Amino acid sequence: MIDFTGKCLCGAVTWTYSGAPDRNLICHCESCQRAASSAFSAFIGATTDAVHWQGEINHYQSSPGTWRGFCATCGTRLYYASDLWPGEIHIAAATLNDPELYSPTSHCVWGERVPWLASLDDLPKPDGFDIEPTGDPT
Ligand SMILES: [Zn+2]
Ligand SMILES: [Zn+2]
Repeated sequence: MIDFTGKCLCGAVTWTYSGAPDRNLICHCESCQRAASSAFSAFIGATTDAVHWQGEINHYQSSPGTWRGFCATCGTRLYYASDLWPGEIHIAAATLNDPELYSPTSHCVWGERVPWLASLDDLPKPDGFDIEPTGDPT
């Protein structure tokens, strides 16, 4: 049993979860890419009833039976829930207060990954933004 806590960017929404995540997936599906404006999304697989939310959350149905929630103030994406997995909610791991608590267990929808994913580990890794433009973004 682990106590997880998290928040959105503006802090208007906070959440807590006490339990053992059942599956921590890194999703590469195109829907997650567009919904999060990100190449992939890391999720904490949680038991819906054990997650407690505070603050105003909006949600929408991104495909039949699938719901995505986000902070009504800042838009931070908070969760994914689907009729495919009743009783489960997939919390955006990027909202964790302590990222050390997260251990991904698998990728999913690998076939839809962005084509440049494999090149990421070979890129420069400065601690700040001090990278000179290359003049050739390709
Ligand atoms: Zn917010
Ligand atoms: Zn996805």
